[in-house]
Amino acid sequence: MAGSLFAADYQNKPYWWDAAPPPELAPIAPPAHSDIAIVGSGYTGLAAALELARGGRQVTVLDAQDVGWGCSTRNGGQVSTSIKPSFAELEGLHGRDSALRIRREGINALAWLDDFIQREMIECNWERVGRFHAAHNPAAFENLARDATNQPKGAEVEVFVVPLEDQRTEIGSERYFGGVVYPAHASLHPAKYHLGLLTLAQAAGAQVISHCPVLRIQRESDGFRLATPRGNLQSRDILIATNGYTGSLTPWLRRRVIPIGSYIIATELLDPALARRLIPKGRVITDTRKLIFYYRLSEDRRRMLFGGRVALKENDPRISAPRLHAHMCRIFPELASIRITHSWMGFVAYTFDTLPHLGRQEDGMHYCMGYCGSGVSLASYFGTRVAQQILGRAEGRTALDGLIFQTRPFYSGDPWFLAAPIIYYKLRDRLNL
Ligand SMILES: Cc1cc2nc3c(=O)[nH]c(=O)nc-3n(C[C@H](O)[C@H](O)[C@H](O)COP(=O)(O)OP(=O)(O)OC[C@H]3O[C@@H](n4cnc5c(N)ncnc54)[C@H](O)[C@@H]3O)c2cc1C
Repeated sequence: MAGSLFAADYQNKPYWWDAAPPPELAPIAPPAHSDIAIVGSGYTGLAAALELARGGRQVTVLDAQDVGWGCSTRNGGQVSTSIKPSFAELEGLHGRDSALRIRREGINALAWLDDFIQREMIECNWERVGRFHAAHNPAAFENLARDATNQPKGAEVEVFVVPLEDQRTEIGSERYFGGVVYPAHASLHPAKYHLGLLTLAQAAGAQVISHCPVLRIQRESDGFRLATPRGNLQSRDILIATNGYTGSLTPWLRRRVIPIGSYIIATELLDPALARRLIPKGRVITDTRKLIFYYRLSEDRRRMLFGGRVALKENDPRISAPRLHAHMCRIFPELASIRITHSWMGFVAYTFDTLPHLGRQEDGMHYCMGYCGSGVSLASYFGTRVAQQILGRAEGRTALDGLIFQTRPFYSGDPWFLAAPIIYYKLRDRLNL
């Protein structure tokens, strides 16, 4: 049965790499010296590199794998205003003003990205398609409708309610109980966007080196020494931009981010009429389940790209693919005979307060990470902001500055404690609770 789910040309790799394959860069050694070294070449690392290089700094970006190999060329390409904690949660912890400012950072990030892509003329299928956020049970719909009409003054987002009887205008599925639409949310082609960032960063003078893992970082009197298999690099400043791939290189950060696997499949080409029936307005879609599903049509609106957290650490996409296919067919029974052409996964980074964190460690290392699964806009925006902080510019200030980057006793980077809640959430979702 499982074998027939896979198309003859099935590939264990992101669909996005068909149009924008991982760039092949010359296997050069890092320079002996750089003003700033950036570890990680995803959106965070490259957005920072661009800003720093344009600010006159000599910048070297190092990645252990191909450039952009992490989440930045693997994601779903859905762009929202997502800041995970609700206004009420933030207000309880940080007070009303800070809560408003933090919530507004999500709105700022989306507006910033729109402006950035247009200004820099990055060809990445950027479209303000809007998001349909679907309720998986009637209580969830009531909550969505109430939140839509009771937004905190000063951090409102454009949203409208879609009751069950009108749902067909948004989605060709009987599975949901209505939902809300955020018309400003957008979609893009993640790997084309990453390639655009890379081209800009290189053109600004940043040196980007792939397959060059940073093995050790040593503090020196006037900066840092980074050891790589291709030689050492001495730098005055350093930015860690490793997000869900933060490892033993930076134990302080590893204790503060929780890597969680996210999984996607792409289907074979759909009949255009079927694709239109399933997602009539071409919006990106998420739902209110605890372990959410996120899906959309491809940029040409011919394939379904369906993602979710169907495993915790599994890194074989052939194993996650049938699970995603089964969930997709529960939502869209019409896709039962449609086969999978691509399956892939990546590690996102959660944090203990579910907020991104940027700033400077006590020993002088800068960091920017923890987008909790919503990094397309947040990584680009905060990557730029942390670069502005390194440049000493006032515009780099954010509402997240100075927040404590929490860890937990005995946590060293392996999220063993997630297994039980995930089983519990799966059960709740299966029972539609
Ligand atoms: C399947 C999936 C779907 C997603 N969908 C969405 C979505 O629809 N919308 C959204 O907003 N977000 C989404 N995300 C999240 C988003 O892609 C990420 O938050 C974002 O790309 C993070 O960018 P980054 O640059 O911080 O990290 P990454 O792009 O992950 O880059 C980190 C890099 O660090 C490198 N690295 C690690 N250690 C070292 C070392 N020692 N030396 C050198 N290099 C090192 C890695 O090789 C990696 O390339 C998704 C993620 C996944 C996996």
